Amino acid sequence: MPASPDLLPDEIARFGADPAAAFAANLTSVQERIAAACHRCGRSAGEVRLLPVTKTVPAGVLLRAYAAGISEFGENKLQEARDKRDILADLPIRWSIIGHLQTNKVKYLVRFAAEFHALDSPRLADELNRRLDAEGRDLDVFVQVNTSGEASKYGLAPCDLVPFIERLSDYPRLKPRGLMTLAIFSAETGRVRGCFRLLRELRDRAIRVHPDLTELSMGMSGDFEIAIEEGATVVRVGQAIFGARPTTDRFYWPHASVDR
Ligand SMILES: *Cc1c(COP(=O)(O)O)cnc(C)c1O
Repeated sequence: MPASPDLLPDEIARFGADPAAAFAANLTSVQERIAAACHRCGRSAGEVRLLPVTKTVPAGVLLRAYAAGISEFGENKLQEARDKRDILADLPIRWSIIGHLQTNKVKYLVRFAAEFHALDSPRLADELNRRLDAEGRDLDVFVQVNTSGEASKYGLAPCDLVPFIERLSDYPRLKPRGLMTLAIFSAETGRVRGCFRLLRELRDRAIRVHPDLTELSMGMSGDFEIAIEEGATVVRVGQAIFGARPTTDRFYWPHASVDR
């Protein structure tokens, strides 16, 4: 049966001939898995926010997701986020930038992003604060920590976290919400869990220095249930909702030794 002509080729590749139904099924399945993981560890499903991640997903698919009730999207790369935001500018979408940011891109981020998950240096904090001040606005931020010790991962080393947080009051436009991490890419769930557990322990320490650092942004398609068991309050899920990415993850994690 030929697919109906208004479907985007990329949509068919990701979702098959009935994208609306497949998308709805993916979304429901992820929501159910979140609820089940919460139930297993005695948490309420309302404690965990699902942040849908749309890197490599074309704007037309985001439009359909919006029609299905999703109004916030996480993007790894600023340029890609800007392009989609320009296409969807008339919709009240909340954009989260979740990937490493170069200081020369900060001026673009402050124009539209509601949230930033990859704060990882004083230099970046300083530039964000300066540009936000010029725009007359604040920004919710998560401090990224490298919990796996891999050279390929961005984020502060765990030992640098508390000194960094002690300086956050120098940047009044930044509203710290919590910590963020990417676990090790490994089939050994014990090692993955160890990364999430470390982030939670660091959060428990950080919160004594800065009482607003309550959130834990951790868990992706392959590991969000483990993250929830370890205390995640935000899970960033892309492929389990939007289908497998056509590009390799080396584009997003240039030094990644494992594609997934
Ligand atoms: C892509 C990405 C995710 C989501 O990964 P999936 O495998 O698509 O669920 C989460 N966090 C960051 C920082 C990402 O770049």
